[in-house]
Amino acid sequence: MLSYAEVLVDVANRRLDQSYHYLIPELLDVKIGMRVLVSLQNRKVQGLVVNVTNELPYELALVTIKPVLERMDKDSLIPPDLIELAHWLAQTTICSIAQSLHTVWPLLNGKVEEWVIPLASLKDADVQTLQWLDPDAFRAMNVINRARSKAIALNTFIKRADISGTTLEKLIQQGWIKKEARFVSIGKGAVKKGTLGEDPLVKSLNQENGANGPENRTGRTYELTREQATAVKSVVASLEEGSSHTILLHGVTGSGKTDVYRDLIAHVIAQGGDAILLVPEISLTSQVARYFETQFGDQVIILHSGLRPREKMKAWEDILAGDKRIVIGARSAVFAPLLNLRLIILDEEHDGAYKQDENPKYHARDVARKRMEQLKGVVLLGSATPSLEAYAAAQSGKIRMLTMTRRIGESTLPPVEIVDMREELIGGNRSVFSLLLQQKLRERIERGEQAMLFLNRRGYSTFVACRECGYVVSCPNCDITLTYHSQGQAMRCHYCNHTELPPLTCPKCASRYIRFFGQGTQRVEEELQGLLPEVSILRLDFDTTRSGEAHRTILARFRRQEASILVGTQMMAKGLDFPNVTLVGVVAADQTLNMPDFRARERTFQLLTQVAGRAGRSTKPGEVIIQTYSPTDGAILRAAQHDYQGFFWEEIRYRKERNYPPYTHIVRVLLLHEKEDRVIKGANDLEACLKQGIQDLKFRKNEIDILGPAPAVLTRLKNQWRWQISVKGRRLDLLRAFLHQGVQRFYKGPASSGIILNIEVDPLSS
Ligand SMILES: [Zn+2]
Ligand SMILES: [Zn+2]
Repeated sequence: MLSYAEVLVDVANRRLDQSYHYLIPELLDVKIGMRVLVSLQNRKVQGLVVNVTNELPYELALVTIKPVLERMDKDSLIPPDLIELAHWLAQTTICSIAQSLHTVWPLLNGKVEEWVIPLASLKDADVQTLQWLDPDAFRAMNVINRARSKAIALNTFIKRADISGTTLEKLIQQGWIKKEARFVSIGKGAVKKGTLGEDPLVKSLNQENGANGPENRTGRTYELTREQATAVKSVVASLEEGSSHTILLHGVTGSGKTDVYRDLIAHVIAQGGDAILLVPEISLTSQVARYFETQFGDQVIILHSGLRPREKMKAWEDILAGDKRIVIGARSAVFAPLLNLRLIILDEEHDGAYKQDENPKYHARDVARKRMEQLKGVVLLGSATPSLEAYAAAQSGKIRMLTMTRRIGESTLPPVEIVDMREELIGGNRSVFSLLLQQKLRERIERGEQAMLFLNRRGYSTFVACRECGYVVSCPNCDITLTYHSQGQAMRCHYCNHTELPPLTCPKCASRYIRFFGQGTQRVEEELQGLLPEVSILRLDFDTTRSGEAHRTILARFRRQEASILVGTQMMAKGLDFPNVTLVGVVAADQTLNMPDFRARERTFQLLTQVAGRAGRSTKPGEVIIQTYSPTDGAILRAAQHDYQGFFWEEIRYRKERNYPPYTHIVRVLLLHEKEDRVIKGANDLEACLKQGIQDLKFRKNEIDILGPAPAVLTRLKNQWRWQISVKGRRLDLLRAFLHQGVQRFYKGPASSGIILNIEVDPLSS
């Protein structure tokens, strides 16, 4: 039978984003993951084999298929399971195989080389015997000694030692050395040991505190609580079963999830396996890694997209050589090519940072599940506030759930007070700070303690709300908050494009105090400074932290107590502890609550829970104040009561009634063009193409729902206009097929010219 290689040609060039079929000559042993030489447009080019098959796609049935010219590697460059993963990624995120392969295997410009590993070292006694018995071997071992490294490239070794192949074989037979195939990146350079991902802030913090992770304070013994021990035992049982599992670990903040991770990783390593631990933010990786290094030594390595190319290559080489067996990193570390991967842990699995927002738009949770399905291992999802999707899957029995309900030691969850901002207005206080928050701030300053004030990320979406009764204008079709646009002064739904003018008086209470809402951190800082002129204040938001360095400097200054109050966005909610912080204030919970997104309530609950967890992490008791115009909203009330379950059941009912995920899936297509009229025309055309598909594919009523076209929340970004169409449906496979067909049709029409399409499955933000 004839066999064909599907070859991704010239993978470094993203414009040739396509694979071609070539005939495999009978005597050539071609495997998936090898590089081959083929001819393309009368040129000899290099390509990567992504598939070997006996069947050709039917459109190639009558075409002459050219042969593979040459094999460039003796063995696969990329493990076949990772190539399979790339295919899966391309399919599920609707991107090209080239794009997805670059993500799965970022070092495509590499090769496999043979290396020499020393098995014995020259001791004095050996030297004399060897020098006398076998001068060749002696010279060879001296070369290795001088190199002072654990391994040396075979070619370099032969050249330097000046030995024959026979001598080499003899050295191997006598047990002096062994040969090993290793992955080497082309254009590599020396990377100094110990420079990977060093974080100056964390380093200085650790020097102050002793090297302890966030949940591991000095003096903690490694005795597990009963809840922790049960969790470990249960996951170990799944690991030993040898089939793939996903398990949700729902533990309140401070319940000691890190201890559970540590014991599980220890188990996996003892059994000869490897593990990945993912954290949501790059800035957290070194802190976490340092803790795990105290447990597992130099088997631990950090991997994330912020590493310099050389550092990244070095990390990959170490992983592929089997020197590193525990990978700690952010989202992209989920692809780490560990040889014997058995366990992937996602800490804070609900965090939006696990979703990549450029192509391929994958979610690390999905990739982890796919990898562990391939390799029959366990995915552990840890969170105090699990994503609705994960918790719903646990409730329906699709995945298993373990719970930890108690904080470790003496610390308790801080009391949370909700302040009704409507009453502040009625009482005559027009400041963004309630009288209670002002009073509590002054108390902290008098006592020499510190406070943190949270705002939502720098708002680019504003909404219209009544400051007297809290009424918020939302879309009659989608139940999503309408976004106010100052140009045109209209309010718009970013899902269905429903448009209306803002009301002059509140439809609910007839108040005149209905207007658009949205405070930036800068304005809040200014007003605060006006209230407390003597107090030093620091601000941490996107504007003040364009570089990672600035971010660290501001946090370090706050930690050294150079300021009493830190005003910032949720970027300061994660990770680091500030023992002197005894008050946490949320200036306006409404900003998150009224984001134009069906996940707004879930985000609010998660954020408030996380923020509340910042207070009272040390011996000094903490307090939390949440200011809001919607004091009766379930997401806010439940967060104040630390009641996840109550929130979940309320929210899941809301999602079901309005047909939002996890009850449906949404695929969003974003259209970009420099000219507004072109993007609108394109969006209308795409809608028509999609609608035609409804008839062609014979969908039943309500099986597929097209929303829009509508302008995106960020209507104009980097000189480009942005419109979007969302498609909703229960079955993801149907949705993908539907989109694929519609997009193909759209590309054939004239309106598509110059338009960039950006497709996202189950987007996390609007
Ligand atoms: Zn009102
Ligand atoms: Zn709508």
